[in-house]
Amino acid sequence: MKDFRYLEGVTTLELKEEKCVGCGVCETVCPHGVFRLENKKAVIADSDGCMECGSCALNCPASAIQVTPGVGCAAYIIQTWVKGKEAAACGGEGTGC
Ligand code: SF4
Ligand code: SF4
Repeated sequence: MKDFRYLEGVTTLELKEEKCVGCGVCETVCPHGVFRLENKKAVIADSDGCMECGSCALNCPASAIQVTPGVGCAAYIIQTWVKGKEAAACGGEGTGC
């Protein structure tokens, strides 16, 4: 799964390092190894590896991460096909994003 790449330079992933408490949850939950802990703070080590699944933001206890659904969110992509881009949203129950 870590070898799976998406479009370069388009991820909406943002990390507010000043809020990070260094718990390491983002590093644990990210399926693509996007985060790494350095000096007890999370850093984005591979932003182009992000598929915008939302797991890191959902699980960060300090709300230090923001990401909106996009290129890699399967639920969002399917909804744009079915409902159109305006009505599509990420975060469906059981989607993990
Ligand atoms: S989950 Fe949040 S608080 Fe924990 S290391 Fe990652 S960014 Fe920092
Ligand atoms: S949104 Fe998903 S793929 Fe992107 S950094 Fe967070 S956990 Fe990793």
